[in-house]
Amino acid sequence: MCIFCDGIKKEQIIYETEHFKVVFDIDPEQEGHMLLISKHHYMNYLDLPDEIAFELIHIERKMIRILEDEMNIYGVTLIRNNGRVMDNGTHFHEHIIPRYKDDKFWSKKETKPMTFDFALFLSLLS
Ligand SMILES: [Zn+2]
Repeated sequence: MCIFCDGIKKEQIIYETEHFKVVFDIDPEQEGHMLLISKHHYMNYLDLPDEIAFELIHIERKMIRILEDEMNIYGVTLIRNNGRVMDNGTHFHEHIIPRYKDDKFWSKKETKPMTFDFALFLSLLS
């Protein structure tokens, strides 16, 4: 039993391509909050082959164009969890969230401050 293979009914799928399906999130942060889900068991963004990652970008841009250009939504936030913050046994998925001016989307987050090794990160970039 896989929640994304077996737990999504056909009628929940609002859009699909060869490698992805899109559904509305059952616990939305905002009305219209969508999940873009890989059909195969990729557990991680880095596991997606380049051509499939390109398909992902194509869907993201299609959704942004519809929301921002056709529906006059103020903006869109895309969230991809990766690495160990992914829930076990799920698929690669991405949140597409319609945004509005002064919607306080970030202000309700209470992130615990942690230290980040800026020197190591910057040395690894070069
Ligand atoms: Zn699955």
